[in-house]
Amino acid sequence: MSRIEFRNVCKRYAPDLPLTIHNANLTIEHGEFCVFVGPSGCGKSTLLRMVAGLEDISSGDLLIGDQRVNELAPAQRGVAMVFQSYALYPHMTVAENMAFGLRVLGSDKTAIDRKVCEAAEVLQLTPLLDRLPKALSGGQRQRVAIGRAIVKNPKVFLFDEPLSNLDAALRVQTRLEIARLHRDMSSASMIYVTHDQVEAMTLAQKIVLLHTGALIQSRGSVAQVGTPMDLYHRPASTFVAEFIGSPRMNLLQAMLRHAEADHAVVDLDGQAVTVAVDARHLPVGSAVRVGVRPEHLLLAYGTDHESSGSALQGQLQHIERLGDSSLLYVKTAGALATVRVEGSVLLPAGQRVSARLLPEHLHLFDQDGLACRRTVELPR
Ligand code: ADP
Ligand code: MG
Repeated sequence: MSRIEFRNVCKRYAPDLPLTIHNANLTIEHGEFCVFVGPSGCGKSTLLRMVAGLEDISSGDLLIGDQRVNELAPAQRGVAMVFQSYALYPHMTVAENMAFGLRVLGSDKTAIDRKVCEAAEVLQLTPLLDRLPKALSGGQRQRVAIGRAIVKNPKVFLFDEPLSNLDAALRVQTRLEIARLHRDMSSASMIYVTHDQVEAMTLAQKIVLLHTGALIQSRGSVAQVGTPMDLYHRPASTFVAEFIGSPRMNLLQAMLRHAEADHAVVDLDGQAVTVAVDARHLPVGSAVRVGVRPEHLLLAYGTDHESSGSALQGQLQHIERLGDSSLLYVKTAGALATVRVEGSVLLPAGQRVSARLLPEHLHLFDQDGLACRRTVELPR
């Protein structure tokens, strides 16, 4: 079994340094594709390297299968790791690079050849087996590095930002290959580290979003664990809300007027706005923030400018045209809000615009940035 469990895991690199990992409690199920994501420096590589056995665990327990592995040597853990830099041996062919780890272990030559051929098939490297790394593209080199991991037949694959050195088109292609690899190797668990929320959303069955800086010390290292749709639709805090989704969620200062079981009413720029959340635990009159994603603000302009329902009013400051859609930057009373509209929309800077605020598309956060429970049906 390749289940991985972190129990109250902490990591402190030196006595005089703050905790890098604080109370990580996590389970990665057998065969699951789990992505660790978060801003640079939040401890993703540290967590991964602890699974690999390349980093000591300061306190807590790490289990692979049913075995506590805190003190187990890396080679005994049944894990294989793929790094951002491919680190291939330049004087060895693709086949030799892939075979090297097994040769060092003294495996049987025919068994090695068979494993290398199988891995090369999976990764479409068969025609390239006799080439040297310098005659490969970046994407092909990274596939060789993945092949080197596959031949070890690990229980657990660990990827640390494997696509960061590739250009945009190759990143997408290699991302699809990694997703296929996971389907083909259904009994291996995978932990994939990235700072890129798009990679996290597209690859993960489970996302673990890690906090950064002071939040690690106050709330523990893990900000939220869930499916991609959980984190998009039900962010537990403003930190998660702003990290997942691009462009980031708008957060607007408001004041709680009243709260009922299935909705709350807040005061936003002087108007009453209904939000489909349960905010009954918050005192009336307290400062809150309304969250709304740029793609959930429905633009009204021209004749339906004064449409019914609550709306964010402001002046268009700038427009970014992306082709399929455009981003409007709208100066409201209290903020600069981003609104995503269809690509054909063309408006002059300075124009007054209004964007409808639909209760079911709004989030509500308290003063500490913690989310109120949403009361609408949302996709899982
Ligand atoms: P990420 O991979 O999320 O960018 P890391 O796990 O590499 O983050 O690092 C997390 C934090 O731990 C950073 O603040 C980093 O400076 C610190 N750190 C990493 N390795 C060491 C080390 N060997 N000694 C001291 N601090 C370290
Ligand atoms: Mg890292």
